[in-house]
Amino acid sequence: MANLLLGQTLGYSSDPFYDGPAAATIERRGAVLVDGGRIQAVGTADDLRAAHPQAQVHDYGEALISPGFIDAHIHYPQTAMIASWGKRLIDWLNSYTFPEEMRLEDPAYAQAVAGTCMDLMLDHGTTTVASYCTVAPQSVTALFEAAQARGMRVLGGKTCMDRNAPEGLRDTAQSAYDQSKALLEQWHGTDRISYVITPRFAPTSTPEQLEALGSLWAEHPSCLMQTHISEQHEEIAWVKELFPEARDYLDVYERFGLLGAGGLYGHAIYLTERERARIRETGAALVHCPTSNTFIGSGLFDMAGLKAEGQRIGLATDIGGGSNFSMLRTMAAAYEIGQLRGTALHPSYLWWLATAGSAQALGLGDTIGRLAPGYEADLNVVDLASTPVIAQRHAQAKDFWEALFPTIMMGDDRAIRATWVGGKPR
Ligand SMILES: [Zn+2]
Repeated sequence: MANLLLGQTLGYSSDPFYDGPAAATIERRGAVLVDGGRIQAVGTADDLRAAHPQAQVHDYGEALISPGFIDAHIHYPQTAMIASWGKRLIDWLNSYTFPEEMRLEDPAYAQAVAGTCMDLMLDHGTTTVASYCTVAPQSVTALFEAAQARGMRVLGGKTCMDRNAPEGLRDTAQSAYDQSKALLEQWHGTDRISYVITPRFAPTSTPEQLEALGSLWAEHPSCLMQTHISEQHEEIAWVKELFPEARDYLDVYERFGLLGAGGLYGHAIYLTERERARIRETGAALVHCPTSNTFIGSGLFDMAGLKAEGQRIGLATDIGGGSNFSMLRTMAAAYEIGQLRGTALHPSYLWWLATAGSAQALGLGDTIGRLAPGYEADLNVVDLASTPVIAQRHAQAKDFWEALFPTIMMGDDRAIRATWVGGKPR
């Protein structure tokens, strides 16, 4: 049966970074008609009620109906160690991340963590994630089964590491290739699942492993490939030591066939001019993880400069380097980093990044992330006056963006009134 959701609606016809806030369409008394897992129509409440009298009505009043948030880079295995104190990247990995990832060797623990993580995501209005798993294939199975059980669109892959990681978290060039290939063949394109080839980052793979994964990607070009790049200075220096023949960090990936339009590069804070030009030429996507970048003390992503040169950019929490599951808090951190770099990012940019922008980065710009007929019906309903402090600020707002911004800056899971996944209310 068709469902008709009533509330304020926010849709985008194009990228507001290029076309300004006018790229957004706001309907104060709007409606979204959902049937068969997809959005069938978007319009005014009056028009769609009249045209679809049989539809079941869900009236959310003045709450905002938005595409569900899309978190373009997380590590679900790090759910239980979020907010671990006091380290920079390499020590943080060794002290906190690797011991916790080791625990997901146990399939029952992996299932429990994957279930917890997906539930927390939905609680926060996030309907799709692109996740790293651990080196253990059963951690990938756990993620995909958890998402499948909840009807979620999900992207993920086995994290490959064959050096500079503890014994229990290392594979080899050959086993990384074989296990990734087996998982890819089993899962890629099943239900709403996409496999992502996942070398953690250059320092934890030998040249042989990077080469094997480059070959796998060439054999399966419909898969995305995700990895990290240029997050901290110490890391960049380490990459230079490990790969002295490479021109720069990006060139390590390019040499082994790991640069292309389906590539997702997390962090990308300290890119050189050459790297930026090459990423743009190849059409690869960057993923900004602002709460992680401040939490681990990494640095300030150049959103305004990278968008101005035409880069594709998604937004992400980077759980558990990131410090919050909420894409609202993540938008706020992106705003704060923008301010520290001298650019105040308009709320229309921030909301776009968390929805259509991330969808585009994941190659799903025609499938999710927009309120438009034919798109998959993953939605969230956001209360724009969810706490006393937000409500009293919201009451003073003179226009839609001023009404939305307090929720971006101060909102969290309490603002998420409902989440719809694949056309069904959760
Ligand atoms: Zn990460």
